[in-house]
Amino acid sequence: MTKPAKPCPICKKARREEFSPFCSSRCRDRDLSQWFGDGYSVPGRQALPEEIAAEVTGGMED
Ligand SMILES: [Zn+2]
Repeated sequence: MTKPAKPCPICKKARREEFSPFCSSRCRDRDLSQWFGDGYSVPGRQALPEEIAAEVTGGMED
């Protein structure tokens, strides 16, 4: 007696061995992007290193 295969957690289709526990690379990527989504959704934007450097050294030129 074999256990019924669990479906893909993203789209609930049958999962594929090579993408386990997902059904496809698309669903796997989607799961990943959901995790990273929290980090990307911060309000405002981070200053670029170049901009920080420009602010630090900007007033010292002349
Ligand atoms: Zn899927």
